[in-house]
Amino acid sequence: MSTVCAVSTPLAEGGISVIRISGSDAISCAEKIFFPFGDKKVSDMEGHTCAYGKVIDPKTGETVDDALLTVFRAPRSYTGEDTAEISCHGGVYITKRVLRLCLANGAVQADKGEFTKRAYLNGKLSLTQAESVMDMISARGELSLRSARLTREGRLFKSIDGIKRKLVTLLGELAAWVDYPEEDLPAVENDALAAALGEACESLRRLVRDYDLGMVLRRGIDTVIAGKPNVGKSTLMNTLLGYERSIVTEAAGTTRDVIEETVKLGELELKLSDTAGIRETDDRVEKLGVSLAKKRIEDCALVIAVFDTSSALDDEDMELLALLKNLGKRTVIVLNKSDLGTAVDRSSFEVLGARVIDLSAKQGEGIGELTEAVSELFGADCFDPDSTVFANERQKQCAEAALEKLETAAAALAMGETLDAVTVMIDYAAGELMELTGERVTEAAVNEVFSKFCVGK
Ligand code: GDP
Repeated sequence: MSTVCAVSTPLAEGGISVIRISGSDAISCAEKIFFPFGDKKVSDMEGHTCAYGKVIDPKTGETVDDALLTVFRAPRSYTGEDTAEISCHGGVYITKRVLRLCLANGAVQADKGEFTKRAYLNGKLSLTQAESVMDMISARGELSLRSARLTREGRLFKSIDGIKRKLVTLLGELAAWVDYPEEDLPAVENDALAAALGEACESLRRLVRDYDLGMVLRRGIDTVIAGKPNVGKSTLMNTLLGYERSIVTEAAGTTRDVIEETVKLGELELKLSDTAGIRETDDRVEKLGVSLAKKRIEDCALVIAVFDTSSALDDEDMELLALLKNLGKRTVIVLNKSDLGTAVDRSSFEVLGARVIDLSAKQGEGIGELTEAVSELFGADCFDPDSTVFANERQKQCAEAALEKLETAAAALAMGETLDAVTVMIDYAAGELMELTGERVTEAAVNEVFSKFCVGK
């Protein structure tokens, strides 16, 4: 494998820049351009040691910078290969010159995420751990960092691996039973098999369910402000955002398309969309908006359902309530225009079991309570720091595929089909889980994972 190099710090003016070189020629490449003060030689440096010296262009003899060199010897490095890191002054020009010297002296430019990819290929990290490195870099708050750190520590790998091992044990028993019927092997009990399948399905179901929460922590809560026209959705959105963004007008049905914004509510980040009202209408443009709104409600993680508290609930309000009841989403009910007095019977909302909040979007009253209600649904208190969550769609899709296959296996078993059919499905499920952890994964999938990284990581 080639020796690669890249700038591992952002390419911008700063105190220090780090240029990382990794591969079997990393130390010799560093030795050609870095000269420690005193009589030390780079090739004599032990792993995990550091030297102060000069970066010199070997062609011209010109000193480029004073710098520090840190040496890591394989396999005790991030990538598992020999690695040298030059910490030079953090100027864009200096950094680029040092990088060019590395390129001219035995290293080639690293691809995006190449260092982490090598760490994965050298068995330093599982694929899920490698993916969590990216999450740690992009974490924007304590909760998302904590969750990424847990994955980095290998917790997701362990729980998936635990499920997979159980499946592999089952497969072993099934194979022995099917292949050597004449041997006096203990029969695979259908009940025990069904129980083991049920348990594995339940663990996977829990992980898939928790994925929603994981996404919330990383990307902000995907939130829809829903309600019929004119209840004050745009006004509420504007109040939360603190400025005018969507058009607020007196005419019913003017917020036609979906407008998206991000807002910080307490500790949490909401990705808000203000949608057209849930309403049957003849207007073609608005109709499009309405179906988009319904779709958005189906897909989102949180619904802020807005009603006008100054007039009694009508059919359109009831339609929204019915939709929410069917979907069972995390919901907060907002009774807006509380400044105009209340004509709404709160008991209508009891079926949803959601918190009901009096609010005046126009006067900014009740926002504190709304914040509290959302925190109750998603906040730090309901985040179990020991829970493992998937880092991305790829992982979740593998788990879902495994779950589907195990459910098919369980159904086949219940219907009295042959153990062969059950075995095949369990085998497929184990394969999906191995793809999740990266134990059995195509090169294309690995490349896809690392293409999302930045250069130098
Ligand atoms: P949307 O169609 O649901 O987005 O409703 P808008 O936000 O456009 O608001 C419709 C009308 O209700 C506008 O005239 C707003 O000024 C008014 N409105 C919104 N919130 C309040 C409120 O809390 N109190 C009062 N009195 N009027 C409000």
